[in-house]
Amino acid sequence: MRRHPALGNQTGPGRRGGPAAASPTAGELLVSSAGMHWQRGAPRWHAGRVDRPEIGLEFAPDLHVFVPAARRAGRSAVRTDGSSSLGHVVESLGVPLTEVGTLLVDGRETGPGHVPADREQVSVLGVRRPQSLPGPARFLLDVHLGTLARRLRLLGVDAAYENLDIGDPALAARSAAEQRVMLSRDRGLLRRREIWAGAYVYSHRPDEQLKDVLSRFAPPLDPWTRCTACNGGLRAADKESLHDRLHDGTQRSFDVYAQCEDCGQVYWRGAHHAHLEAIVAEALRDQLRPVGPSVERPR
Ligand SMILES: [Zn+2]
Repeated sequence: MRRHPALGNQTGPGRRGGPAAASPTAGELLVSSAGMHWQRGAPRWHAGRVDRPEIGLEFAPDLHVFVPAARRAGRSAVRTDGSSSLGHVVESLGVPLTEVGTLLVDGRETGPGHVPADREQVSVLGVRRPQSLPGPARFLLDVHLGTLARRLRLLGVDAAYENLDIGDPALAARSAAEQRVMLSRDRGLLRRREIWAGAYVYSHRPDEQLKDVLSRFAPPLDPWTRCTACNGGLRAADKESLHDRLHDGTQRSFDVYAQCEDCGQVYWRGAHHAHLEAIVAEALRDQLRPVGPSVERPR
């Protein structure tokens, strides 16, 4: 097949006489109703749709949540533009690259920068759990994941979160500057190139979100050591030093206290403790018996 990279620029009269019209000349170029171009008396030119590579693409079942129904039934054909990377092609079909583990091209592992050629067969696999990171498992959560942030902190996992919507560029910049895994249900945010690492959160339910993140990254757990309000570290505090900050009833009822080193928040074994104990116990149990994500359609 003969290719002519400039041909796509020669469809309109505005291009005639310009550099791209040097060969063939404008007068000889014909445009059919189907958008085909050819030069009279010369071998046919191939343009637009006809010249673009067609590849076969299949997605692993754990990625089906991101792609249209027609792409979930095994291998399907995709026309590319001949210059875009495989990573771009995959993303344009709805799958964040943060969720892609391995890309196989004709059975060989390749990177997202590979530019697919005609008739290549591509398999897109999901990330393997637990996923290793180039640094400690520290997280940054977007504005919609406040409950998940507090639960991660309860378990001693470093989970930065701001309850103001600072916007995608600022979140991505913070992920990069502090080397934190960006957690979000927003695929647009996860597509930003500057993030250090990212992960799509598959459920909208905090209990399932917690299982998802813990099974994916298996961060070390150290419950009751971190402030659920601000992510700061907790230190033990005695009742006398907290005298001004506690109600009389609390002082009479509880003896074990901790205080946040950053914001000063005081913690004691209080009314909600049974509920939090249950969350901690379940997380520690699941640590020994990994579970997969509960999957919902993304936005
Ligand atoms: Zn605090």
